[in-house]
Amino acid sequence: MTVPLDPSERRLLASRWRRVAPGRARGLVGLVLAPLVVGASASAWAAEPVLAHARPETWDMTRQELQAIGLGQSRGDPRPVPPEYPRRNLGADDDGSHGPGDPDPWVIFVNFDGETLTSGMDSAQQNITQIFELAGPFEAYGGDATQRDAVLQAVMADWAAYNMVVVDQRPAEGEYVMNMTGPTNPFGGGVLGIAPVDCSNLQTHSNVTFAFHSANDGFSAAIQATTIGQEVAHSFGLEHVDEPNDIMNPYNAGGDPTFIDECIPIVGGSVCPQQHLQHCPDGTGQNAHQELLTLFGPAIVDTDPPVVLITAPLDGQEFEAGSDFSVVVNVTDDSPITQVELLHDGVPVMLDTMEPWGFAITNVPAGTHVLQASAVDENGNEGVSAQVTLEVIEIGGTEGETDGAGQDEDGKGCGCRHGGAGGPWPWMLVLLGPALRRRR
Ligand SMILES: [Zn+2]
Repeated sequence: MTVPLDPSERRLLASRWRRVAPGRARGLVGLVLAPLVVGASASAWAAEPVLAHARPETWDMTRQELQAIGLGQSRGDPRPVPPEYPRRNLGADDDGSHGPGDPDPWVIFVNFDGETLTSGMDSAQQNITQIFELAGPFEAYGGDATQRDAVLQAVMADWAAYNMVVVDQRPAEGEYVMNMTGPTNPFGGGVLGIAPVDCSNLQTHSNVTFAFHSANDGFSAAIQATTIGQEVAHSFGLEHVDEPNDIMNPYNAGGDPTFIDECIPIVGGSVCPQQHLQHCPDGTGQNAHQELLTLFGPAIVDTDPPVVLITAPLDGQEFEAGSDFSVVVNVTDDSPITQVELLHDGVPVMLDTMEPWGFAITNVPAGTHVLQASAVDENGNEGVSAQVTLEVIEIGGTEGETDGAGQDEDGKGCGCRHGGAGGPWPWMLVLLGPALRRRR
């Protein structure tokens, strides 16, 4: 059972939802040539990429040989769900659970902040793990926001083809997979992560998975994202395959693996053969890309315009000339909002590119002013608010001579009583000072 995200939560998710720009996160991709020791803190975090000729021509090497060139760390064998644990999602397809055709995105919560975990049947919401060795305190990732952001963006890039949201803030409600990302590693050096293997995602949508990476462990953002993605994918029933460029390869082979759209032989024995037979019917292995598409559906492109509302001032509100006030704008959309513009009599006059959306108006001139706000989401959909008409009255003056219609002779529609000389927006010129910004 899954409770669909309500609009306010989707908004929260959207606000946290930083999509990767193609090529941007990749710019940070690198490999470390020096021998790696998991948990070592001295190595540079953003290492130089390994040039193509420096990568081995064959991966047919022992783990020791791979490790000698900085590769070959393993990701731990995933743990089958204990048979006594109930499969809560069995037959749940038509009762509101996520699935193909369901527009609600699935959620991967990359937890960089550390947590104290207890042992038991997985519950991301309650910080319960069925990898019993990891009960107890799990250390935070460390580093700064830039490092976490690079990893998060690399994870987003790996999962961009699927109806999946990747966040680094715990969702307020609903189900989500939580990947604990930090240096706490009970398995020792060389092991990069571990997860339960939940065939067809039947046990729970809220597994807890682990990537033993930290800010200064020397692995590139791409490799850290590969570990995170592999461990999360184990919790959807994907298993290890014999292909270094697939995210499900158990050995760190460097580069920037993806979920490959091919049947690739499974290594180490299969726990979920039925799941793989869907797309590789002759038993030739696992097609990670197709399995993820079947489980979650493709990424959904948002074509809806943002819903924009000016919440202050109110329509019809009166001000005295010379007043200062704030225009507060509320924007709702399924995708991140890239900008909000303030329109004065239909003409854009101010731009805001960061939440919270709003504009500071100072020394407003007498007259009738029609305000609107327009917002654009990252898919280019634009929404415009209803009009808010303000009456600004001269104090003890000769009120009543405004043109009211919002159309000056210059055609730019100032609609105010300053005479129109010197350009249409003299009252706007002072707006660009200290703006109304309550930065988070
Ligand atoms: Zn694995």
